[in-house]
Amino acid sequence: MTKHNLINPGVLEVICGPMFSGKTFELIHRVEKLKYLEGSKYLFFKPDKDTRTKNIKTRFNDLEVQCITIKYPDEILQNINGCDLIAIDEAQFFQKDIIAIVEKLLKQDINVIIAGLDLDYRGIPFNIMADLLAMADHIEKLFATCFYPHCHRKATRTQRLINNKPSHYNDPIIIVEGAGKEIYEARCIKHHEVPGKY
Ligand SMILES: [Zn+2]
Repeated sequence: MTKHNLINPGVLEVICGPMFSGKTFELIHRVEKLKYLEGSKYLFFKPDKDTRTKNIKTRFNDLEVQCITIKYPDEILQNINGCDLIAIDEAQFFQKDIIAIVEKLLKQDINVIIAGLDLDYRGIPFNIMADLLAMADHIEKLFATCFYPHCHRKATRTQRLINNKPSHYNDPIIIVEGAGKEIYEARCIKHHEVPGKY
């Protein structure tokens, strides 16, 4: 296996899809192979939204990578010394300034692989993910299976339920704790319910 099969200098790849579609697994799977490439260096970042994880290992089945949590995208630039590849998970939670950071990384011949939700619970592009998808050289769209009883179709949407009812279009995208019992499901387009959308 040559280095070029696994590292594409200056190339932006985006892995997206609804919740439960295996984006993080796919991202880890993609980068953990570099462990076996002598002399290659990668770093794995995710937003510091979830304070339970600080420089810990992100693990899925038997796959495991060291993960750096960051508050602001420019913290990535402080860490890239000698990196061939940068992986960024949950990119939908970053602000617009991540766009310039990604471009700077690409210009330095770094392969950037980003995973995130393409659409929010309303089925609307999630923050900066639309920009990142437009910038991407390669896009991988993943699907889940619809959670709706007896459906089993490909799920492309994330359904939000608050106290077991579909969340309204005007509800906040990121809910503060205590606003109600919040549950997410993967749904197909037919069973994706957003009261107030149309
Ligand atoms: Zn369905």
